[in-house]
Amino acid sequence: MTEIDPRSLPALPALMIAGPGEMHGDDLNVLGHQVLAHYGDIWTQIHSETIALLGRILGAADPPYLIPGTGTTCLDAAVMNLFEPGQKVVTADTGFFGTRLMEVCRANGLEVTHVPVEVGAPIDAERVAEAAKGAHGLLTVQVETATGVRHPVQEIAEVARAQDLIYVVDGVASVGGEAVSVDGMNIDALVTGSQKGLEAPPGLGMLALSGRARDRLESRSSRPRSWYLDLKVWDWYRSEWAGWHPHPVTMPTNLVLALNSSLRRILEVGLETWVQNRHALASCCRDGLQKLGMKAVPQAGCEANLVVAMWAEDPAAIQAHLIEHEGIMISGGLTPTTGKAIRVGLMGRTATDEMVERALGGIRAALAAS
Ligand SMILES: *Cc1c(COP(=O)(O)O)cnc(C)c1O
Repeated sequence: MTEIDPRSLPALPALMIAGPGEMHGDDLNVLGHQVLAHYGDIWTQIHSETIALLGRILGAADPPYLIPGTGTTCLDAAVMNLFEPGQKVVTADTGFFGTRLMEVCRANGLEVTHVPVEVGAPIDAERVAEAAKGAHGLLTVQVETATGVRHPVQEIAEVARAQDLIYVVDGVASVGGEAVSVDGMNIDALVTGSQKGLEAPPGLGMLALSGRARDRLESRSSRPRSWYLDLKVWDWYRSEWAGWHPHPVTMPTNLVLALNSSLRRILEVGLETWVQNRHALASCCRDGLQKLGMKAVPQAGCEANLVVAMWAEDPAAIQAHLIEHEGIMISGGLTPTTGKAIRVGLMGRTATDEMVERALGGIRAALAAS
Protein backbone atom coordinates (compact mmCIF):
# COMPACT_ATOMS: atom_id res chain seq x y z
CA MET A 1 0.00 0.00 0.00
CA THR A 2 1.30 3.45 -0.84
CA GLU A 3 1.53 5.99 1.90
CA ILE A 4 -1.23 8.60 2.03
CA ASP A 5 0.07 12.15 2.02
CA PRO A 6 -2.52 14.46 3.65
CA ARG A 7 -1.36 17.28 1.35
CA SER A 8 -2.78 15.37 -1.61
CA LEU A 9 -5.62 13.17 -0.44
CA PRO A 10 -7.47 11.06 -2.98
CA ALA A 11 -11.05 12.12 -3.86
CA LEU A 12 -13.29 11.05 -0.99
CA PRO A 13 -17.05 10.39 -0.96
CA ALA A 14 -19.51 12.96 0.43
CA LEU A 15 -20.48 12.09 3.99
CA MET A 16 -24.04 11.12 4.79
CA ILE A 17 -22.97 8.82 7.61
CA ALA A 18 -24.36 8.73 11.14
CA GLY A 19 -21.76 11.35 12.12
CA PRO A 20 -19.63 13.30 11.75
CA GLY A 21 -21.22 15.61 9.22
CA GLU A 22 -19.27 17.59 6.63
CA MET A 23 -18.46 21.16 7.57
CA HIS A 24 -20.01 24.18 5.87
CA GLY A 25 -17.62 26.20 3.68
CA ASP A 26 -17.59 29.32 5.91
CA ASP A 27 -16.78 27.26 9.01
CA LEU A 28 -14.01 25.53 7.10
CA ASN A 29 -12.50 28.95 6.34
CA VAL A 30 -12.75 29.87 10.01
CA LEU A 31 -11.08 26.58 10.95
CA GLY A 32 -8.20 27.43 8.63
CA HIS A 33 -7.39 30.67 10.48
CA GLN A 34 -3.84 30.93 11.76
CA VAL A 35 -3.45 29.59 15.32
CA LEU A 36 -4.27 32.21 17.92
CA ALA A 37 -3.25 32.48 21.55
CA HIS A 38 -5.53 30.64 23.97
CA TYR A 39 -5.45 33.54 26.42
CA GLY A 40 -5.80 37.29 26.45
CA ASP A 41 -8.68 39.64 25.73
CA ILE A 42 -9.65 38.51 22.23
CA TRP A 43 -9.57 34.84 23.10
CA THR A 44 -11.39 35.26 26.40
CA GLN A 45 -14.17 37.09 24.60
CA ILE A 46 -14.45 34.45 21.85
CA HIS A 47 -14.48 31.70 24.47
CA SER A 48 -17.14 33.27 26.65
CA GLU A 49 -19.33 34.11 23.64
CA THR A 50 -19.07 30.49 22.48
CA ILE A 51 -20.16 29.28 25.92
CA ALA A 52 -23.10 31.70 25.82
CA LEU A 53 -24.17 30.42 22.37
CA LEU A 54 -23.93 26.87 23.68
CA GLY A 55 -26.05 27.74 26.70
CA ARG A 56 -28.80 28.93 24.33
CA ILE A 57 -28.61 25.74 22.25
CA LEU A 58 -28.62 23.46 25.30
CA GLY A 59 -31.30 25.47 27.12
CA ALA A 60 -29.14 25.90 30.21
CA ALA A 61 -28.83 28.99 32.40
CA ASP A 62 -25.77 27.44 34.08
CA PRO A 63 -22.85 28.09 31.67
CA PRO A 64 -21.98 24.82 29.89
CA TYR A 65 -18.53 23.22 30.02
CA LEU A 66 -16.61 23.02 26.75
CA ILE A 67 -13.89 20.39 27.07
CA PRO A 68 -11.36 19.23 24.46
CA GLY A 69 -12.07 15.59 23.69
CA THR A 70 -15.36 14.24 22.34
CA GLY A 71 -18.89 13.60 23.47
CA THR A 72 -17.71 10.59 25.43
CA THR A 73 -15.19 12.74 27.35
CA CYS A 74 -18.14 14.68 28.72
CA LEU A 75 -20.17 11.54 29.45
CA ASP A 76 -17.26 10.41 31.58
CA ALA A 77 -17.12 13.86 33.22
CA ALA A 78 -20.87 13.87 33.93
CA VAL A 79 -20.77 10.41 35.49
CA MET A 80 -17.66 10.91 37.63
CA ASN A 81 -18.77 14.34 38.90
CA LEU A 82 -22.45 13.68 39.59
CA PHE A 83 -22.09 10.26 41.21
CA GLU A 84 -19.68 8.68 43.66
CA PRO A 85 -18.29 5.15 43.46
CA GLY A 86 -20.68 2.55 44.85
CA GLN A 87 -23.82 4.55 44.04
CA LYS A 88 -26.63 2.90 42.10
CA VAL A 89 -27.79 4.08 38.70
CA VAL A 90 -30.05 2.79 35.93
CA THR A 91 -29.28 2.79 32.19
CA ALA A 92 -31.49 1.70 29.28
CA ASP A 93 -30.35 -0.89 26.73
CA THR A 94 -31.38 1.08 23.66
CA GLY A 95 -28.45 -0.19 21.58
CA PHE A 96 -24.74 0.53 21.12
CA PHE A 97 -24.71 3.94 22.84
CA GLY A 98 -27.13 2.93 25.60
CA THR A 99 -24.71 0.13 26.39
CA ARG A 100 -21.81 2.57 26.34
CA LEU A 101 -23.55 4.61 29.07
CA MET A 102 -23.67 1.45 31.16
CA GLU A 103 -19.96 0.84 30.51
CA VAL A 104 -19.01 4.41 31.42
CA CYS A 105 -20.92 4.06 34.70
CA ARG A 106 -19.30 0.71 35.52
CA ALA A 107 -15.84 2.10 34.67
CA ASN A 108 -16.51 4.83 37.23
CA GLY A 109 -17.33 2.31 39.96
CA LEU A 110 -21.11 2.64 39.93
CA GLU A 111 -23.55 -0.19 40.44
CA VAL A 112 -25.62 -0.34 37.27
CA THR A 113 -28.98 -1.87 36.39
CA HIS A 114 -29.29 -2.05 32.60
CA VAL A 115 -32.97 -2.13 31.63
CA PRO A 116 -33.93 -3.92 28.36
CA VAL A 117 -35.66 -1.91 25.64
CA GLU A 118 -37.34 -3.47 22.58
CA VAL A 119 -35.51 -2.70 19.31
CA GLY A 120 -37.26 0.20 17.55
CA ALA A 121 -39.38 1.13 20.57
CA PRO A 122 -39.04 4.21 22.77
CA ILE A 123 -37.89 3.76 26.37
CA ASP A 124 -40.83 3.15 28.71
CA ALA A 125 -40.42 5.88 31.33
CA GLU A 126 -42.46 3.98 33.94
CA ARG A 127 -40.35 0.88 33.51
CA VAL A 128 -37.04 2.67 34.06
CA ALA A 129 -38.58 4.55 36.99
CA GLU A 130 -39.57 1.25 38.56
CA ALA A 131 -36.04 -0.14 38.09
CA ALA A 132 -34.59 3.06 39.56
CA LYS A 133 -36.38 2.86 42.95
CA GLY A 134 -33.77 3.72 45.56
CA ALA A 135 -31.09 4.56 42.96
CA HIS A 136 -29.14 7.83 42.72
CA GLY A 137 -29.41 8.38 39.02
CA LEU A 138 -30.71 7.51 35.61
CA LEU A 139 -28.86 7.81 32.29
CA THR A 140 -30.28 7.43 28.78
CA VAL A 141 -29.58 8.55 25.24
CA GLN A 142 -32.02 10.94 23.63
CA VAL A 143 -31.35 9.53 20.17
CA GLU A 144 -29.89 6.05 19.91
CA THR A 145 -27.72 6.36 16.81
CA ALA A 146 -27.66 2.58 16.28
CA THR A 147 -31.43 2.39 15.69
CA GLY A 148 -32.41 5.96 14.79
CA VAL A 149 -34.93 6.01 17.67
CA ARG A 150 -35.71 9.20 19.57
CA HIS A 151 -36.43 8.48 23.22
CA PRO A 152 -38.89 10.52 25.34
CA VAL A 153 -36.41 12.41 27.54
CA GLN A 154 -38.97 14.90 28.79
CA GLU A 155 -41.21 12.12 30.10
CA ILE A 156 -38.23 10.31 31.61
CA ALA A 157 -37.07 13.56 33.24
CA GLU A 158 -40.47 13.88 34.92
CA VAL A 159 -40.31 10.45 36.52
CA ALA A 160 -36.66 11.02 37.45
CA ARG A 161 -37.54 14.31 39.17
CA ALA A 162 -40.44 12.65 41.03
CA GLN A 163 -37.98 10.11 42.48
CA ASP A 164 -35.22 12.68 43.10
CA LEU A 165 -32.88 10.94 40.64
CA ILE A 166 -30.14 12.81 38.78
CA TYR A 167 -31.01 12.39 35.09
CA VAL A 168 -28.11 12.42 32.59
CA VAL A 169 -28.92 12.57 28.87
CA ASP A 170 -26.53 11.57 26.09
CA GLY A 171 -27.53 14.11 23.46
CA VAL A 172 -24.60 13.50 21.10
CA ALA A 173 -26.94 12.47 18.28
CA SER A 174 -29.78 14.82 19.17
CA VAL A 175 -28.55 18.30 20.12
CA GLY A 176 -28.93 20.45 17.00
CA GLY A 177 -31.50 18.06 15.58
CA GLU A 178 -34.16 17.54 18.22
CA ALA A 179 -36.04 19.66 20.74
CA VAL A 180 -34.10 19.38 23.99
CA SER A 181 -33.50 21.80 26.85
CA VAL A 182 -31.85 21.34 30.22
CA ASP A 183 -33.95 23.91 32.07
CA GLY A 184 -37.05 23.52 29.89
CA MET A 185 -37.24 19.75 30.36
CA ASN A 186 -35.76 19.31 33.87
CA ILE A 187 -32.77 17.35 32.58
CA ASP A 188 -29.88 17.39 35.07
CA ALA A 189 -26.97 16.90 32.70
CA LEU A 190 -26.98 17.13 28.90
CA VAL A 191 -23.91 15.97 26.99
CA THR A 192 -23.03 16.43 23.36
CA GLY A 193 -20.10 16.65 20.97
CA SER A 194 -19.15 19.16 18.31
CA GLN A 195 -19.34 16.93 15.23
CA LYS A 196 -22.94 15.80 14.82
CA GLY A 197 -25.97 18.08 15.08
CA LEU A 198 -23.75 21.06 15.86
CA GLU A 199 -21.99 20.57 12.50
CA ALA A 200 -18.51 21.57 13.68
CA PRO A 201 -15.32 19.49 13.47
CA PRO A 202 -14.84 16.64 15.96
CA GLY A 203 -12.69 17.36 19.01
CA LEU A 204 -14.90 19.13 21.57
CA GLY A 205 -17.29 17.78 24.17
CA MET A 206 -19.98 19.84 25.90
CA LEU A 207 -21.81 19.35 29.17
CA ALA A 208 -24.60 21.49 30.63
CA LEU A 209 -25.94 21.09 34.17
CA SER A 210 -29.17 21.93 35.97
CA GLY A 211 -29.20 23.80 39.27
CA ARG A 212 -29.88 20.48 40.99
CA ALA A 213 -26.85 18.87 39.36
CA ARG A 214 -24.77 21.85 40.45
CA ASP A 215 -25.96 21.32 44.06
CA ARG A 216 -25.02 17.64 43.79
CA LEU A 217 -21.58 18.64 42.57
CA GLU A 218 -21.12 20.98 45.54
CA SER A 219 -22.25 18.43 48.11
CA ARG A 220 -20.01 15.51 47.10
CA SER A 221 -18.10 13.76 49.86
CA SER A 222 -15.00 13.17 47.70
CA ARG A 223 -13.32 14.57 44.57
CA PRO A 224 -13.51 12.57 41.34
CA ARG A 225 -10.42 10.46 40.63
CA SER A 226 -9.38 12.57 37.67
CA TRP A 227 -7.84 16.01 37.52
CA TYR A 228 -8.65 16.76 33.89
CA LEU A 229 -12.35 15.88 34.21
CA ASP A 230 -12.95 17.24 37.71
CA LEU A 231 -15.47 19.98 36.96
CA LYS A 232 -14.35 21.92 40.05
CA VAL A 233 -10.98 22.36 38.33
CA TRP A 234 -12.77 23.85 35.32
CA ASP A 235 -14.87 26.04 37.68
CA TRP A 236 -11.74 27.29 39.42
CA TYR A 237 -10.13 28.46 36.20
CA ARG A 238 -13.43 29.87 34.96
CA SER A 239 -13.64 32.12 38.01
CA GLU A 240 -10.04 32.72 39.11
CA TRP A 241 -8.52 33.15 35.65
CA ALA A 242 -11.68 34.63 34.13
CA GLY A 243 -10.01 37.66 32.64
CA TRP A 244 -7.35 35.96 30.59
CA HIS A 245 -7.40 32.11 30.53
CA PRO A 246 -10.76 30.75 31.74
CA HIS A 247 -9.94 27.04 31.33
CA PRO A 248 -7.24 24.78 32.78
CA VAL A 249 -5.67 23.55 29.52
CA THR A 250 -4.71 24.89 26.11
CA MET A 251 -7.98 25.05 24.21
CA PRO A 252 -8.05 23.87 20.56
CA THR A 253 -8.73 27.46 19.53
CA ASN A 254 -9.43 26.70 15.86
CA LEU A 255 -12.04 24.10 16.79
CA VAL A 256 -13.73 26.57 19.11
CA LEU A 257 -13.76 29.22 16.37
CA ALA A 258 -15.35 26.81 13.90
CA LEU A 259 -17.90 25.74 16.52
CA ASN A 260 -18.76 29.36 17.27
CA SER A 261 -19.32 29.99 13.55
CA SER A 262 -21.56 26.94 13.24
CA LEU A 263 -23.62 27.78 16.36
CA ARG A 264 -24.25 31.24 14.92
CA ARG A 265 -25.63 29.66 11.75
CA ILE A 266 -28.10 27.57 13.78
CA LEU A 267 -29.19 30.48 15.99
CA GLU A 268 -29.53 32.85 13.01
CA VAL A 269 -32.07 30.44 11.53
CA GLY A 270 -33.58 30.00 15.03
CA LEU A 271 -33.23 26.77 16.99
CA GLU A 272 -36.89 25.81 16.64
CA THR A 273 -36.97 26.39 12.87
CA TRP A 274 -33.64 24.62 12.50
CA VAL A 275 -35.00 21.52 14.25
CA GLN A 276 -38.24 21.66 12.20
CA ASN A 277 -36.16 21.75 9.02
CA ARG A 278 -34.19 18.71 10.13
CA HIS A 279 -37.45 16.95 10.94
CA ALA A 280 -38.85 17.73 7.47
CA LEU A 281 -35.68 16.49 5.78
CA ALA A 282 -35.65 13.25 7.81
CA SER A 283 -39.34 12.65 6.98
CA CYS A 284 -38.65 13.21 3.28
CA CYS A 285 -35.69 10.80 3.37
CA ARG A 286 -37.65 8.13 5.26
CA ASP A 287 -40.75 8.47 3.03
CA GLY A 288 -38.55 8.06 -0.03
CA LEU A 289 -36.95 4.92 1.37
CA GLN A 290 -40.34 3.51 2.37
CA LYS A 291 -41.53 4.04 -1.21
CA LEU A 292 -38.61 1.83 -2.25
CA GLY A 293 -40.10 -0.91 -0.05
CA MET A 294 -37.80 -0.42 2.94
CA LYS A 295 -39.05 -0.54 6.53
CA ALA A 296 -37.97 1.92 9.21
CA VAL A 297 -36.16 0.54 12.28
CA PRO A 298 -37.95 2.95 14.69
CA GLN A 299 -41.62 2.54 15.41
CA ALA A 300 -43.85 5.26 13.95
CA GLY A 301 -43.65 8.48 15.97
CA CYS A 302 -40.19 8.05 17.49
CA GLU A 303 -38.01 8.43 14.39
CA ALA A 304 -34.96 10.61 14.96
CA ASN A 305 -34.13 13.64 12.79
CA LEU A 306 -30.36 13.32 12.35
CA VAL A 307 -30.16 9.63 11.48
CA VAL A 308 -32.63 7.63 9.38
CA ALA A 309 -32.32 3.88 10.01
CA MET A 310 -33.98 1.35 7.67
CA TRP A 311 -33.87 -2.45 7.70
CA ALA A 312 -32.01 -3.83 4.68
CA GLU A 313 -31.25 -7.33 3.42
CA ASP A 314 -27.79 -6.47 2.15
CA PRO A 315 -26.66 -3.15 3.61
CA ALA A 316 -23.05 -3.59 2.47
CA ALA A 317 -24.15 -3.89 -1.18
CA ILE A 318 -26.19 -0.68 -0.93
CA GLN A 319 -23.30 1.16 0.71
CA ALA A 320 -20.80 -0.01 -1.93
CA HIS A 321 -23.16 0.89 -4.79
CA LEU A 322 -23.74 4.38 -3.38
CA ILE A 323 -20.03 5.06 -3.04
CA GLU A 324 -19.27 3.79 -6.51
CA HIS A 325 -22.13 5.43 -8.41
CA GLU A 326 -22.99 8.54 -6.39
CA GLY A 327 -19.84 9.20 -4.40
CA ILE A 328 -21.91 9.19 -1.20
CA MET A 329 -21.00 7.36 1.98
CA ILE A 330 -23.80 6.20 4.30
CA SER A 331 -23.56 3.98 7.39
CA GLY A 332 -24.48 0.35 7.92
CA GLY A 333 -25.95 -0.92 11.16
CA LEU A 334 -24.53 -0.93 14.68
CA THR A 335 -25.56 -3.22 17.54
CA PRO A 336 -28.42 -4.31 17.46
CA THR A 337 -28.74 -3.48 13.73
CA THR A 338 -25.27 -4.65 12.58
CA GLY A 339 -25.46 -6.20 9.11
CA LYS A 340 -29.22 -5.63 9.02
CA ALA A 341 -29.76 -1.94 8.37
CA ILE A 342 -28.56 1.16 6.57
CA ARG A 343 -28.36 4.50 8.35
CA VAL A 344 -28.41 7.83 6.52
CA GLY A 345 -27.00 10.77 8.46
CA LEU A 346 -28.59 14.19 7.95
CA MET A 347 -26.16 16.64 9.46
CA GLY A 348 -23.73 19.25 8.18
CA ARG A 349 -23.22 20.50 4.65
CA THR A 350 -24.81 17.48 2.97
CA ALA A 351 -28.09 17.71 4.89
CA THR A 352 -29.98 19.13 1.90
CA ASP A 353 -32.98 18.11 -0.23
CA GLU A 354 -30.68 17.72 -3.25
CA MET A 355 -28.33 15.32 -1.47
CA VAL A 356 -31.24 13.31 -0.07
CA GLU A 357 -32.65 13.04 -3.62
CA ARG A 358 -29.28 11.82 -4.89
CA ALA A 359 -28.94 9.29 -2.07
CA LEU A 360 -32.50 8.02 -2.72
CA GLY A 361 -31.74 7.65 -6.42
CA GLY A 362 -28.58 5.71 -5.65
CA ILE A 363 -30.34 3.43 -3.16
CA ARG A 364 -33.14 2.78 -5.70
CA ALA A 365 -30.52 1.74 -8.27
CA ALA A 366 -28.68 -0.40 -5.71
CA LEU A 367 -31.87 -2.26 -4.79
CA ALA A 368 -32.72 -2.78 -8.48
CA ALA A 369 -29.23 -4.16 -9.15
CA SER A 370 -29.42 -6.74 -6.36
C1 LIG B 1 -21.53 9.51 18.25
C2 LIG B 1 -22.19 9.21 19.56
C3 LIG B 1 -21.43 9.08 20.73
C4 LIG B 1 -19.95 9.13 20.73
O1 LIG B 1 -19.53 10.42 20.61
P1 LIG B 1 -17.96 10.78 20.52
O2 LIG B 1 -18.03 12.23 20.20
O3 LIG B 1 -17.41 9.93 19.42
O4 LIG B 1 -17.36 10.48 21.81
C5 LIG B 1 -22.09 8.90 21.93
N1 LIG B 1 -23.43 8.80 21.97
C6 LIG B 1 -24.19 8.91 20.87
C7 LIG B 1 -25.67 8.80 21.00
C8 LIG B 1 -23.59 9.10 19.63
O5 LIG B 1 -24.33 9.18 18.52
